[in-house]
Amino acid sequence: MIPPIANNFVAGETPEAALAHVNGLNDRGVAAILNLLGEHYEDRAAADADADAYVELAQSIADGESDACLSVKPSQIGLGVSEAAFRENLARIVGAADCFVWIDMEDHETTDVTLDAFERHARETDGRVGVCVQANLKRTRGDLERLADLPGKVRLVKGAYDEPAEIAYEKKARVDESYRECLSFMFREFDDGVAVGSHDPEMVELAERLHDEHGTSYEVQMLMGVREEAQFDLARDADVYQYIPYGSKWFSYFYRRIREQKSNALFALRAIVGR
Ligand code: FAD
Repeated sequence: MIPPIANNFVAGETPEAALAHVNGLNDRGVAAILNLLGEHYEDRAAADADADAYVELAQSIADGESDACLSVKPSQIGLGVSEAAFRENLARIVGAADCFVWIDMEDHETTDVTLDAFERHARETDGRVGVCVQANLKRTRGDLERLADLPGKVRLVKGAYDEPAEIAYEKKARVDESYRECLSFMFREFDDGVAVGSHDPEMVELAERLHDEHGTSYEVQMLMGVREEAQFDLARDADVYQYIPYGSKWFSYFYRRIREQKSNALFALRAIVGR
């Protein structure tokens, strides 16, 4: 069972628990992006089992008419086994799902294969898939030129992986500058909408200004348990999605969230001491 403190960041261990969380969010005007926790499988059976779980989840979303979509990690659905396994499982999920399917971005060694898979499905489904790109990678501004011509949505994040200095910006100020440059390009050049994957108030405000200037549609995406009141406030005027992890492999995800942000750590401490 997930302890109450981790429950702020993870919706539960089962799809039923995750969908119950989604219903509560939808009632407050926030849509959902569901992610079954799991990554870096080197065993085909494990990758296939998670792909099966996503196919079943997509069916439950359709049955319950929830305002929800999926987000999958390449290494969760087979990239650690082979590129063919990843491609097969992704095709199976996208083919079975009525809802939108996002592809998360992992470390820089997976960028090309992930963008290629996105391109294929974006064209085949006429834009019912999305991909995440990372502002900390020096290549991303160039990748956006390619992505601008494709259907489908692109989520811009700052980047969660420690990458070598030759290929990535290391200083936070430089990553933020890259985020602003990439976001401005996307609002100027993208037709199918922009997804702002950030909790940073400065980036969300920049997106609002760019939307007013260019008219490009956009959505804000934030993680479950992070700035949730802001999510509900923003949802009054903009499309807001909450990224919701669930599943039995919750501990390492929860631990990452706690290490990442001092405010989360303080929150955890308060929960432990009961204040
Ligand atoms: P930061 O630069 O971490 O913080 C900027 C400001 O935001 C802070 O100063 C504060 O004002 C505010 N803030 C941030 N966190 C908190 C908090 N906990 N409480 C209160 N205020 C806070 N990364 C990947 O590499 N690949 C992915 O596929 C991916 N998908 C993601 C999907 C979503 C929906 C989101 C939100 C993030 C995703 N990430 C992904 C993670 C991302 O790369 C960043 O590591 C993470 O979002 C932290 O950067 P930030 O832009 O939110 O803000």
